Amino acid sequence: MTAVICSSCSKRDKPTVQLHDHREIQICFDCLGWMNAKRNRQMMAHDGGWKVGGFEPIFTLEDVARSVDHYAKMGFEISFHDETYAFAHRDRDLTIHLTKRVGDIQSVVGSLYIHCESADEVADEWRKAGLEVIGPKDEDYGKREGSHTDPDGNLTGFSSPLR
Ligand SMILES: [Zn+2]
Repeated sequence: MTAVICSSCSKRDKPTVQLHDHREIQICFDCLGWMNAKRNRQMMAHDGGWKVGGFEPIFTLEDVARSVDHYAKMGFEISFHDETYAFAHRDRDLTIHLTKRVGDIQSVVGSLYIHCESADEVADEWRKAGLEVIGPKDEDYGKREGSHTDPDGNLTGFSSPLR
């Protein structure tokens, strides 16, 4: 087997994808990530307004340990923020937040977590539109994070990396 070399950074033996029309050109996942980030910045500069970098569902549950077992059986990798908040990861594109429910089951509503370039930009736009927003503020886990609750109690959290 011949070594695979990334046509962009020249690193060897990393996972790569081939270009559709130029199969001899292989791009490693790191370089693809860099290009995607660059595309997102260009789109932001072009269109204005906040952009979604990624989004994740938040499931609220009775017993985090029980749910962690359950999602592990479903083939997810598990990581913890603390004993009341865990994450179930599958591949690169799916993370489910597993958070202990506060209140009874009637209180359960939809919740979503958005990753974006600037949490302040999101908060500013939503406040300008007359919406109530909490935060954003810097958190010790490396995020600048805020949230908004819609009239029916559905929660949208949003964050950008701390700079
Ligand atoms: Zn590369």
